[in-house]
Order: sequence, then structure tokens, then C-alpha cells
Amino acid sequence: MINTFDELLSHAGHKIEAVYYGTENQAVSTAIECVTCGMVLIDLSPGQTVGVDDNDGKTIAHVWSVVDVMDRAKERHINLSDQQCLEILARVDDGKDASIGINWDVLDSHTDDYLALMSG
Ligand SMILES: [Zn+2]
Repeated sequence: MINTFDELLSHAGHKIEAVYYGTENQAVSTAIECVTCGMVLIDLSPGQTVGVDDNDGKTIAHVWSVVDVMDRAKERHINLSDQQCLEILARVDDGKDASIGINWDVLDSHTDDYLALMSG
């Protein structure tokens, strides 16, 4: 199993295959494998979720993406590039406050701060 950016990056350009174990109608497990290395990259059983299964289902996680930043900005008539959204997302991650969390207002605030910074 891979868990990190560097681990996944090491398979860039390799032959990757999605497979299942069991029967087609009743798969007991499904995996993404690197054929080049002969290694399972991601392996899931029914009910499992990528990234939150290491705590026996005792964890929750909300994922915020570049698309969230971009769509939210568009609603406010601000057009951002993928790169700009990525930089804003990094700022949101760096500045996260557990008592506030990440929400639309936080994205707006970071977007405004970023744009103010960029415009000098
Ligand atoms: Zn590989």
C-alpha cells in the first residue's frame, strides 16, 4: 500500500491496472496495482474508504480541492487558475484553525488575502 506523495510518484509512467478479487458480481476486494513493480498500490474491501481506514472507521475527513476553491471564487465573480487555487489551498492548510475548521468563509478569506498579496 502507498500512503505518500513520494511513494505514488515513484510509480509515475509505470503500467497501472485496476483489478478485483472474488467474482465479478461479488468482489471481496479491489485494488490498483503497479504491473511494472508487481506491487499493490491501493487495496480496498467493500465498505473501506481510501485514507480513513487506518483507524478502524474511527476517523472522519473532509476533503477540500482546487475545484472547491475555484467554484467558490467563480460564485464571487473571481477567476482563478489551477495554480492559484492550489496556492490558496496550501495557505488554507497551513493556516487551519481547529476551532474554526475549513468552510466557505475560510476559503473566501484566504482567496481575498492571496489576491491582495499578489496585487502587491
Ligand atoms: Zn511501479
